[in-house]
Amino acid sequence: MTSQRTRDRLVARLREKGITNEQVLEVMRTMPRHLFVDEAMNSRAYEDDALPIGHGQTISQPFIVARMTEILLSRGIPDKVLEVGTGSGYQAAILSQLVPRVYSVERIIALQRQARERYHQLHINNIELKHSDGSWGWPQHGPYPAIMVTAAPEQVPESLLQQLAVGGIMIIPVGRQNSAQSLLLITRDEDGFIEEELDAVRFVPLLNGAIG
Ligand code: SAH
Repeated sequence: MTSQRTRDRLVARLREKGITNEQVLEVMRTMPRHLFVDEAMNSRAYEDDALPIGHGQTISQPFIVARMTEILLSRGIPDKVLEVGTGSGYQAAILSQLVPRVYSVERIIALQRQARERYHQLHINNIELKHSDGSWGWPQHGPYPAIMVTAAPEQVPESLLQQLAVGGIMIIPVGRQNSAQSLLLITRDEDGFIEEELDAVRFVPLLNGAIG
């Protein structure tokens, strides 16, 4: 159920749904998503669904991961990416195969520890993790040419906008929980920010403060 055939089928599904970036599809095909969920969920790891990862959080649906990754890379390969909401660590793992360096922030320490173990097991060593409230970004390594937020705030956090480099791109779901959220694509040029609304999406909320 975690076989290559099952993964190939997932990639075929992603193609049908409109993902066209071959590098992204190849990474989705090879990354073992079943290692990012509890063993009890292994048989469902290659279905195109979000799955629970404990602590009331979810690993995003593969289509959303592929779509956000494809959009983030659409203006060229950034030399680093800031991700807010490490969760299972899967999205950052996908990014790690496509960009030189990934910085990811998570507010729940137990999730961060599990993600770290997974990277160790998979010999992924270009991801740096931080335990904190990601609404504040990770200023030490900024500004970032690319920022991806995988939990939904009601408004785009000001600190993240400030840490976006001129010429940079941010992808972020915005809206209330249990109501319509929109995936926003924000780019920054010399004159300021340009906001574009993409798909309707459903993410867990971006919450304040770090716990654990
Ligand atoms: N990218 C993840 C998706 C996890 S769901 C994956 O691939 O599995 C979103 C995650 O964002 C959750 O783990 C949640 O704890 C985290 N989160 C929510 N608010 C946050 C905040 N303010 N700072 C950092 N992480 C946050």
